[in-house]
Amino acid sequence: MAQQKQRKFFKIKISILHKIMFYGVLLVFLTVGINTYIAVKTETEVLTGKLIYQGRHLAKDLAFSFKKAFPSSDMAFMAELLAESTTGKHGEVVYTRIVKPDGKIYMADDRSFCGQLVDSSILVEKDGTFTNHFFPAQKDSGILLVHPLNIDGQRWYVMVGLSLKSIKTTTSRLIFHNLISGSFAVLLGAIVSFLLAKSICKPIIALTGASKIIADGDLEHRVTAETNDEVGELARTFNDMAVKLKKSYTHLEENVEELATEKELLSITLGGMSEGLIAVDVDKRIIIFNEVAENLCGWKFKEVEGKLIDEVFQIINEQTEEPLKSPIDQALQSKKTECGSEFDVLVSRDGSRCPVSASAATICKTKGEVVGVVMVFRDVSHERELDRMKTDFVSSVSHELRTPLTSIKAYTETILRDKDMPEETKLNFLDIISEETNRLASLIEDLLEVSRIEAGTAKIQQNAVDVAAIIEKVLTALEPLAGKKNIKLEPRISNELPKLSADESKIESVIINLINNAIKFTPENGRVSISVETANEQMSIRISDTGMGIPAEALPKIFNRFYRVYRPGKEIQGTGLGLSIVNKIVSMHNGRIEVESEIDQGTTFTVFIPLAAEPVAQSCHS
Ligand code: ADP
Repeated sequence: MAQQKQRKFFKIKISILHKIMFYGVLLVFLTVGINTYIAVKTETEVLTGKLIYQGRHLAKDLAFSFKKAFPSSDMAFMAELLAESTTGKHGEVVYTRIVKPDGKIYMADDRSFCGQLVDSSILVEKDGTFTNHFFPAQKDSGILLVHPLNIDGQRWYVMVGLSLKSIKTTTSRLIFHNLISGSFAVLLGAIVSFLLAKSICKPIIALTGASKIIADGDLEHRVTAETNDEVGELARTFNDMAVKLKKSYTHLEENVEELATEKELLSITLGGMSEGLIAVDVDKRIIIFNEVAENLCGWKFKEVEGKLIDEVFQIINEQTEEPLKSPIDQALQSKKTECGSEFDVLVSRDGSRCPVSASAATICKTKGEVVGVVMVFRDVSHERELDRMKTDFVSSVSHELRTPLTSIKAYTETILRDKDMPEETKLNFLDIISEETNRLASLIEDLLEVSRIEAGTAKIQQNAVDVAAIIEKVLTALEPLAGKKNIKLEPRISNELPKLSADESKIESVIINLINNAIKFTPENGRVSISVETANEQMSIRISDTGMGIPAEALPKIFNRFYRVYRPGKEIQGTGLGLSIVNKIVSMHNGRIEVESEIDQGTTFTVFIPLAAEPVAQSCHS
C-alpha cells in the first residue's frame, strides 16, 4: 500500500516536471518554426518581386531597342544585346527571345533556337508573367515574362526567362541559419523550462511529501513556506489545515477513548447480566444480543446481527401453544414498556422450550423519536418449579398432618364417647393414638430440621459413631414396615468396621431416610440391601433396592427441597424433604452422596463420609 502511494507520488512529481518542460520546448520550437516560415516566405516574395521587376525592365529595354532597330533591319546590335542579357550581371536570366507574330522565334540569345515555334498559350495580349514555368534546356522551373510590342500593326513578343536558383539558395541559407539558431533556442528553452518546472515543483513535492507524512500519522509535521506567491499561500494553508487536523484528531481520539470505555462498560454490564438482553432498531433488526440471550435462544450474536427479531425470538403460550406477540412488537405499537404474559414460553433454535418472563421498552431520541426497542427476559423455569414444589409441599404436608390427626381425633372421640369400652380395646386405641402422634412428631421434626438447616442453626455434635449399631437399630425399627410388603432387608456389614467421627443422631437420620425410602419405593416381595465399607480414609454406606427406580431427568432434582417424582397412578405419601435433609447432613460432614437408578430395576444411594469428618458450616443457601 505504502509502495503504491510512493509510486503515485513519484509519478505526479515526474509528470508535472515533464509537462512544463515539454510545453516550454514546444513553445520555443513553434516560435522558431513560425518565425522561420514567415521569414522564408517574406524573403522569397521580396526576391521574386525584385526579379520580376528586373526581368520586366529588361524585356522593356529589349522591346525598345528592337522597335528602333527593326526598320533599319540592322539586327547585329540587337543580337549582341540579346546575347549579353543572359551573361554577366543578369545571372538570373535563363534566356531572352524575340518571337514573331506567328509564334516563331525570330531572335534569341542562343541562335540555335531561332525559327522554333513557341507554345501559343503564352502569346498574350498584355504583359504576362508565368510563374513555375518549366525550362526544358535547364531542366528547371522558373518565371517566364512575356512583353508584347506593336510593329507595323503586328504583335511581336519579347520573352525573358528567369531562373529562381539564386532565390532558392538565399532561402535555403536562411532556413539553415534559422535551424541553427532555433536549435539553440530550443535547447535554451528546455533548460529554462526545466529550471522553471523544478522551481514550481519543489514546493509541490515538499507539500506532497508533507501530506504523505501526515497521512502516515505524524500530525506535527509542517511545511516551510519559502515564497510569498500562490505556492507559499498553499503551504501556509496546508499548515493551518494540519493544525486543525491535529486538533480534530486529538478530539476524535478522546471521543474514541470515551466511546471505547463506554463500550467496554456496556459489554461488561451486558455480559454480567443474569437476564437475556436483546436490542433491535426500529425495523426490528437485532443490534445487541447478550450472552444469556445467546444461551436461551441458541443463536450466537454473530449469526443474528442485523437479522429480524422474529426469526430468532419466538414465544408461544405454554397452555395453548399458540404463537404470541413478542413484547418488542407490543412496545413498538404502544410506544410504552410492555411485559409478556406469565405463560410465555421461548422456543429456542433447537426447538427446546423454556418458560420466560420478558419485558420490552422503546429506545427514544431526545426529541421522542423511537429508534429501537430493548427487551430483557429471563429463564423462570426454576421459579415455576419452585412454585410447583411449594404447592405440592403444602398439599403433601397438609395431607401428612391431616391423616394422623384425623385418626387421633377419631380414636380419642370414640374413647371419650364410649364409657363402657373394654380396657383392652381402649389400650389398643391408645396405642394407635400414640403411634399417630409419633408420626406427627417425626413429620414436624423433619420440618424443623429443614428449617434449622436452612437457617444455618443446625449444629453437629461430633462423637465416635458405631455405624453398624445404628443400621441394626434402624433395621429393627423398620422391620415391621418392610414385613408388611414382604420386603427382605439384607445387611452386609463387616465386624471390623471403624468408628466414624460424626453426629450420631444425624447419621441415624440419614440411614433412616434412605432405608425408609428404599422400602417405600420398592413393591412387594422386593429386597433392600445395606452395605458399609471403608477405603481411602472414608466410609461408604450403600443402600440398594429392587424398586421402581427414578427417571433420569428427575435425578438432578431429587435432592431439592420439596421435590417429589411425579408418578401418575402411583400415589406414595411423602413431603419431598427427606433427601434434601440427607444431602445437607452429608455435606455438613464434608461428605458426598451418589445415586444410580434404573426404572423398574432399582436404586442405589451411596453416602461417602470421611472417617474423621471436619464439620462444615452450612449457610441457608448451600
Ligand atoms: P419423599 O418424602 O417424597 O420421600 P424424598 O426427598 O425422600 O421425599 O425423596 C424425593 C423423591 O425421590 C421421592 O418423591 C421419590 O420419588 C424419589 N426417591 C427417593 N428415594 C427413592 C428410591 N429408593 N427409589 C425410588 N425413588 C426414590
